[in-house]
Amino acid sequence: MKKRPFVTLDKLNEITREFPTPFHLYDEAGIRRNAQALKDAFSWNPGFKEFFAVKATPNPFLISILKEYGCGCDCSSMTELLMARAVGCGQGDIMFSSNDTPDEEFRFADEIGGIINLDDITHISHVEEAVGRIPKTISCRYNPGGLFRISNDIMDNPGDSKYGMTKEQITEAYRILKAKGAERFGIHAFLASNTVTNEYYPILAKVLFELAVELKEKTGAHITFINLSGGIGIPYSPDDDPNDIAAISEGVRKVYEEVLVPAGMDDVAIYTELGRFMMGPYGCLVTRAIHEKHIHKEYIGVDACAVNLMRPAMYGAYHHITVMGKEHEPCDHLYDVTGSLCENNDKFAIDRYLPRIDMGDLLVIHDTGAHGFSMGYNYNGKLRSAEILLHEDGSFSMIRRAETPKDYFATFDCFPEVYGKLLQ
Ligand SMILES: *Cc1c(COP(=O)(O)O)cnc(C)c1O
Repeated sequence: MKKRPFVTLDKLNEITREFPTPFHLYDEAGIRRNAQALKDAFSWNPGFKEFFAVKATPNPFLISILKEYGCGCDCSSMTELLMARAVGCGQGDIMFSSNDTPDEEFRFADEIGGIINLDDITHISHVEEAVGRIPKTISCRYNPGGLFRISNDIMDNPGDSKYGMTKEQITEAYRILKAKGAERFGIHAFLASNTVTNEYYPILAKVLFELAVELKEKTGAHITFINLSGGIGIPYSPDDDPNDIAAISEGVRKVYEEVLVPAGMDDVAIYTELGRFMMGPYGCLVTRAIHEKHIHKEYIGVDACAVNLMRPAMYGAYHHITVMGKEHEPCDHLYDVTGSLCENNDKFAIDRYLPRIDMGDLLVIHDTGAHGFSMGYNYNGKLRSAEILLHEDGSFSMIRRAETPKDYFATFDCFPEVYGKLLQ
């Protein structure tokens, strides 16, 4: 599939007159279209709710758009909870899917109406202690162990992952929670990440639905929701086929009819905690070529670096690059596209064939809308970029300003002498 940017060169020239590169740009039209498609796809399930994984794109302006489509928030830290509260999430709108959780976060999550998803059986006493009781609605995270396969392909290795409880533990946890007053139970599992197959959710659903039937029989717990969590991927590479959310949902519906309905569990709500799928394709990193270097290889230096987008440096992840205005020119130049960190893995692309790049060209690095800006850091004293939202009518607004040195030095503010000198 040919990958095209959601923005034109003319529009980018207009935006960069106002906001200097680099910045992350988001596509409001795409975010809305996709959120509506998800909602439509799961409309067969009356209780369906998507809890957007805040860690993917923690920006209140973007999360507020999703909220219009009925989405809540999936949080796993204090600041993510604060953000969910700030966008107006109330009772039942927050899923607190954390692990290794501090007690005060359990307390705060409960206080603002969040549903606690327990990562471990030992957390029961922590919640009881922190909250002062066991919440009436509670969820447990499941880890089946072993390898997670689709046909013969290994999708991921739950046996090696730190999350969730074994089947024996989740059964025991349900019994304890029920005895302590829990009334509405949920099951959660996240077994594979960035899946580019329509089969992941249906296969996961089968595992969780069968577990739900077993847990109900063994413990008598009233299971009211099953959380398929995140993991639906996006086509980062032009060779990937996009997932079809209608087909995915239809696959889940079939398993629901097959497993839950005959067990008399036809009132179970399906929850999701998608991050990447909700935002990934609807953001891009806009950067400008500022240096070219010809040594043992050909390098193009841009004004963004790995602190703006860590995935290529960290995972060797592929992010497609469009040289704006040269979409129809041949990709006959072999480049490494680099940032300026003193760190040789600071490369957005290695041995990539692109059109000839001239200094000043604008490059769009695709699919940075999730786990892009949010994984940013300040190594080498680099500052985080702005985030800009391109509206449906072509207008645009800044939804987070770029950091300044003052932000970088802010935590020295308790040493006025030093702080003053740093800001001179
Ligand atoms: C990261 C995460 C998600 C979102 O994952 P995506 O791959 O972005 O869909 C959902 N739930 C939990 C608990 C997570 O840690």
